[in-house]
Amino acid sequence: MGLQHSNKPVIATLGTHSALQILKGARDEGLPNLCICRRGKEQPYRSFGVADEILLLDDWSDWDDALEEELLRRNAVVVPHGSFVAYLGSERIHHMRAAYFGTKGILEWESDRTKERQWLEKAGLLLPEVLKKPEDIDRPVIVKFHGAGGGFGYFIARSPDQFYEVKNRKYPDEDDYVIQEYIVGVPLYIHYFYSPMTGELEIMSMDKRYESNADSIGRIRAADQLASNIYTSYTIVGNIPVVVRESMLPELFAMGERVVDVSKKICGGKGLFGPFCLETIVTRKLHVYVFEISARIVAGTNPFVEGSPYTALKYDVPMSTGRRIAREIRIASEQGRLEDVLDEYPAMYGSALRV
Ligand code: ATP
Repeated sequence: MGLQHSNKPVIATLGTHSALQILKGARDEGLPNLCICRRGKEQPYRSFGVADEILLLDDWSDWDDALEEELLRRNAVVVPHGSFVAYLGSERIHHMRAAYFGTKGILEWESDRTKERQWLEKAGLLLPEVLKKPEDIDRPVIVKFHGAGGGFGYFIARSPDQFYEVKNRKYPDEDDYVIQEYIVGVPLYIHYFYSPMTGELEIMSMDKRYESNADSIGRIRAADQLASNIYTSYTIVGNIPVVVRESMLPELFAMGERVVDVSKKICGGKGLFGPFCLETIVTRKLHVYVFEISARIVAGTNPFVEGSPYTALKYDVPMSTGRRIAREIRIASEQGRLEDVLDEYPAMYGSALRV
């Protein structure tokens, strides 16, 4: 403990996922930061020197009311990232008293497959078809088990027989899955930032993922692939920057804008704001299929600590998504508008969080 008393908001996040750029971004914007880390996982934050202070927890379940009091006392603004819900759980987040960057209500639309699909459909996006039951499989499909983090445990099938063969052998007890049309194309993850302060939607960067073993199967010849009976898996290992054909940009902006517009209707108030990502597959006819939305900063922004080709066009300083978050919070704080970038902002924070 012992962070100096300061009028500036302190950018606080969990030490994992995209914390390096969030912490560095805070520092670049002249804001103090705090990294909340699990004991034994703190070395990157020490070694890269981006954390003003590291607070160690033995386990994420040690995140309790006392810690939140401490965060309030310190003027901390908690910045959620992609691993945030997985580690803290939605219950803890919903009741979190500490100031939170973003709209908590959107998390339930992001994490519930049915709601997520309704949201994206309302936004007029092209989605892979979902087949109701295994007997309907009449084309290549990707079978996704709920909670199969990082694409681990997904499998491809082309017929009902093939589905049951894999399902009964590998996942006999799992019944929470979705059967989705497999879209042949290239993956493209589009990183957006929507500012509730200016009402502007920005494209920050784009990536594709480096997945094991999907990205290595092509390194052996087809006969060896068949002989070794490899099943495709999508365990994410890292992220690779992508820049798209410029002619696709108008459509990608429009997609993001519609997602933001609909979010305001479905969850009320400010809706989705800050960073989010549309996870897409682009076909040879340049149709953009969206298979998922992440309503927080994604790890695909990590290659862009020094900014991306897109942010280089817009900003005269290297602008990562982490820094963009800190900038939004800094400007909101300077203009006395912090409530515009925080969840709800109950009156009780008024005295604790100096704006
Ligand atoms: P995360 O929740 O971290 O985003 P995940 O476990 O939900 O990861 P996805 O990102 O949904 O996994 O998908 C894993 C892989 O499967 C990705 O490479 C993606 O391109 C591919 N994929 C997902 N849905 C489809 C689809 N309908 N057609 C083709 N490929 C798909």
